[in-house]
Amino acid sequence: MSSEYNKRIKRRNFIKKSSAGLLGAGMLNSKKSFGLEEDNAKDESPRIKQYRTLGRTGFRVSDIGFGGAYPNEEEIVKALIRAGVNYIDTAESYNENVIGSSIKGFDRKSLFITTKMAAFKNFETKEQILARARKSLEKLQTDYIDCLMIHAAQSSEIIKSEAFHSAVKQLKNEGRLRYCGVSCHGSMWIHEPKESMDEILLGAVEDGRFDVLLLTYNYLMQDMGKKIMKACKEKNIGTTIMKTDPYSKYFLLKKTYDMMVEKSTKDGTPIPAYATNLFSKFERYKEQAESFIEKHNLSGTDEIRAAAIRFVLDNPDADCVLMSFTTFEDIDNYVKLSGNPLSSSDKKTLKDYEKSLGRFYCRHACGVCEEHCPHHVPVNTIMRYDQYFHAQNQREYASEQYASLHGHKAEACENCPGYCEKHCPYNVPVHSLLNIAHRKLTSTS
Ligand code: SF4
Ligand code: SF4
Repeated sequence: MSSEYNKRIKRRNFIKKSSAGLLGAGMLNSKKSFGLEEDNAKDESPRIKQYRTLGRTGFRVSDIGFGGAYPNEEEIVKALIRAGVNYIDTAESYNENVIGSSIKGFDRKSLFITTKMAAFKNFETKEQILARARKSLEKLQTDYIDCLMIHAAQSSEIIKSEAFHSAVKQLKNEGRLRYCGVSCHGSMWIHEPKESMDEILLGAVEDGRFDVLLLTYNYLMQDMGKKIMKACKEKNIGTTIMKTDPYSKYFLLKKTYDMMVEKSTKDGTPIPAYATNLFSKFERYKEQAESFIEKHNLSGTDEIRAAAIRFVLDNPDADCVLMSFTTFEDIDNYVKLSGNPLSSSDKKTLKDYEKSLGRFYCRHACGVCEEHCPHHVPVNTIMRYDQYFHAQNQREYASEQYASLHGHKAEACENCPGYCEKHCPYNVPVHSLLNIAHRKLTSTS
């Protein structure tokens, strides 16, 4: 049975369970609990169970929110809202049009919509920002945006942008905007000055003008996130969290490895040289991975991912965990985690994963090794695009972002001895990972 067929069946079942089936049965609920004007009644599909206050906005947001460049399907966004997800994070570089057409028919006031705008180094003029915000309003087909964020701030300088803040003030006066915020992955080496995510975001907290932050936090990368969230709590700033799942990188790589071995056996061709260095390590880690799976009685990576999300939800300073939903299956898998407590077995699984396989994960918002690269390759950013490509199934977006990077990309890595890798405190085999990422992100197939 093809995966496309599976997807269609899954989609059909989900729609049947979550909306069409119920509306068809005429079981309408007058409470409008999830913001759907023609709300539905009991069904078996997963629902959001917990809402948290988003800092000083006072808005009660679902603990699981929607964020990311996809989906391109309105039905997915609609199903999410029906399931009780009321926080939507988008960006002018994502698909705001889809969000705009999806929210029609829902009570706008029950949704919190954030959009983001980026600048290479800094914004130029207030007028430029106003024009861009008006374009977003048009695409989102809404009278107002709940929160306008600076997208992926790369320095403390942009946090202070007077062009941004005076545009925000004007939009608020016009009733077109309620709050402002900032998202951050740390800075890239190619962009001076180099600052870490916590330096940039703690600067935003201090600045006092931001109401909501979007930051990276997960069980393999805790320190910066904890520090930022604590500071936000003290100033009553809302926190939304991304990159919550370090995506079981080992298992993704293992899949690539198996495919390469199969192809090489079939065609009688050698495995590409760039990959042999990394893949030779697999033999060493294979045993560890197998005993990890056996010990925790796992049937796949979904269980590790669920534990990783519960880990973030367990932190009371995290107001909303953003997930990307590209399929109906994602809705089934993630919405059910709402209000789910972290168990002691989750803790053991995550601890063990870190110990045995955590070295395959390039920590988001890290960038420690970048200053050792003679070509100023933005290592951490490239590995983030690699995650979009593989784990979040956002291939087109990831490849576009990679193509638009300024300066050297990972093509510089092929003939390099890997200075970055020698300086990684987590022993990530990043030299090989960069070579693999480059081929994936530039492949046309
Ligand atoms: S390879 Fe290591 S040092 Fe470099 S960005 Fe990734 S985690 Fe940080
Ligand atoms: S492998 Fe070499 S060129 Fe590539 S990022 Fe590391 S140091 Fe730079």
